[in-house]
Amino acid sequence: MTTCPPPPPARTLAPASVAVVLGTRPELVKLAPLIHELGDAARLVHTGQHWDETMSGRFLRDLGLPRPQLLTGVGGRPRAGQIALSLGQLDAAFAEDRPAAVVVQGDTNATLAGALAANARGIPLVHVEAGLRSFDRAMPEEHNRVMVDHVADLLCAATTGNAANLRAESLDEERIALTGNTVVEVVRRQLPDADARAALLAAHGVAPDGYVLATVHRPENTDTAGALRAVLTELDRIARTGTPVLFPMHPRTRAAVERFALDGLLARIAVTGPVGYAEFLGLARHAALLVSDSGGVQEECTVLGRPLLVVRRSTERPEAVEAGFAALVPPGPGLGDLAADWLADSPERLARLAATPSPYGDGLASARIAALTARLSERPVPVAA
Ligand code: UDP
Repeated sequence: MTTCPPPPPARTLAPASVAVVLGTRPELVKLAPLIHELGDAARLVHTGQHWDETMSGRFLRDLGLPRPQLLTGVGGRPRAGQIALSLGQLDAAFAEDRPAAVVVQGDTNATLAGALAANARGIPLVHVEAGLRSFDRAMPEEHNRVMVDHVADLLCAATTGNAANLRAESLDEERIALTGNTVVEVVRRQLPDADARAALLAAHGVAPDGYVLATVHRPENTDTAGALRAVLTELDRIARTGTPVLFPMHPRTRAAVERFALDGLLARIAVTGPVGYAEFLGLARHAALLVSDSGGVQEECTVLGRPLLVVRRSTERPEAVEAGFAALVPPGPGLGDLAADWLADSPERLARLAATPSPYGDGLASARIAALTARLSERPVPVAA
């Protein structure tokens, strides 16, 4: 395994020579610091998996990202259609202007399509956030991340646990690098300053350490009326105790609430649409408790020093639980009960978490990945185009 920090880039990458393929909100967030490190060497390709103003447009602007090439016809399709349509268009783009390296992040359909397109043309492939495993084969994301790890030439593991998962699958040691997670630097850079955060909390009518911030969007919590009802019932229970609950709602969750006629459970909850990244971080920074099924929030809570109840049955990110920031709790009465317990001992918990370092690294992951990408782009990969 490559140890950190790596040497500086062996050469300067040519303009637009590194294709960064992405398609969803979390990919924009976590690739932003790496795209900045790559500078004019980065060229963005957005598959359009999440393509609207609230989930992509304002993230591109707010994170200072360059205008991407946008693929067409991908959003809203079933999984195989998204992958196939993205793959065909990526292949055409790479044939026309061959990148020196392709970068993908995480476990989305865009990640898999980008990886397959690079592999098909023998272009060196970098996987950011390699080695996450939920060991839950019912999750499409688990299949995406396993397949991408097995074709990637550089596996950027955020933690030693992630690296161990890769070794357990017999992936070559020289393909693995322990880099840390880029989430550390993106949170530090995007968190609004204290005055802006005070204004934000005032605008939402909440006091520091005095509210719950919730996000829910995973299929396991939104695809059936029973699952979504179970989560919303618990959020309603928290709100009934007098603790305000802020709930920036994902479009998928909004559609499910309407489909299953569950609006009645939202009467006491402060529901908004999805908020911008800086606003979300500002609110998360002062929440007494986070309740979420998001992958990114499981990492962000460790940088912000806030407690999180993860509304899921399994997680590919055990680090936040192991470090004491988070607990895994399936939807159901246990969620409201644990929330009440954690809110009751909130001052002690917040003090302890403020003094606990994030398990996700030192804020230099994107610099390491950019340097390793520059070296990789000089190396032939063993796949015939
Ligand atoms: N997020 C945001 N606004 C919101 C809700 C979430 O900016 O209203 C951010 C959150 O901080 C995290 C990312 O979106 O960085 C998570 O995206 P999502 O939950 O869609 O995906 P996941 O992380 O589960 O893959």
